[in-house]
Amino acid sequence: MKNLIRIILEGALTNFKRILFASERVTDMEMRSRILEGRVEPTDKVAEVSCIGCGGCSNACPTEAIEMRNLDEPVKLMDGLLKTQIPFLNSEKCVHCYYCHDFCPMYALFGDAGTIHPNDVGVVESDINKLMDKPFKISDDKIAFIAQFLADKSIIKKKKT
Ligand code: SF4
Ligand code: SF4
Repeated sequence: MKNLIRIILEGALTNFKRILFASERVTDMEMRSRILEGRVEPTDKVAEVSCIGCGGCSNACPTEAIEMRNLDEPVKLMDGLLKTQIPFLNSEKCVHCYYCHDFCPMYALFGDAGTIHPNDVGVVESDINKLMDKPFKISDDKIAFIAQFLADKSIIKKKKT
């Protein structure tokens, strides 16, 4: 309840929408149970190498606990996909709602381990080039729902062309 009140106080209407549309979440119950029960090995909170810098986690976070920071040098992930930022988490502001994980396309689109989470998701060594060869694992409706939070939608655009 305390966390919910904090989300409401710190957020605006969009936060209510995220709570109300919780059924649209893409992190499945099995993964959520693993996280909540502490069965996920802790390591760094952001898997910097595998993160594609799309900003989905930051935009979805209801308490603004995630700040996207510019990299000193952009990283070319693949043709047409450049990583210019990575997220930083402020644990003090985190209310453990898991929306950052829900909207991380690495998990949401491909079913790979999400690259961000307050309790962490373990070691993540995703290769975006290989993942792009796999079909998206969710419906077009859910892809559209996720896409609205991504600052960089090139991963979706690239896959659809
Ligand atoms: S779990 Fe993720 S989305 Fe939720 S408050 Fe913490 S950092 Fe933000
Ligand atoms: S949503 Fe995932 S891939 Fe995108 S910036 Fe956040 S951690 Fe990185």
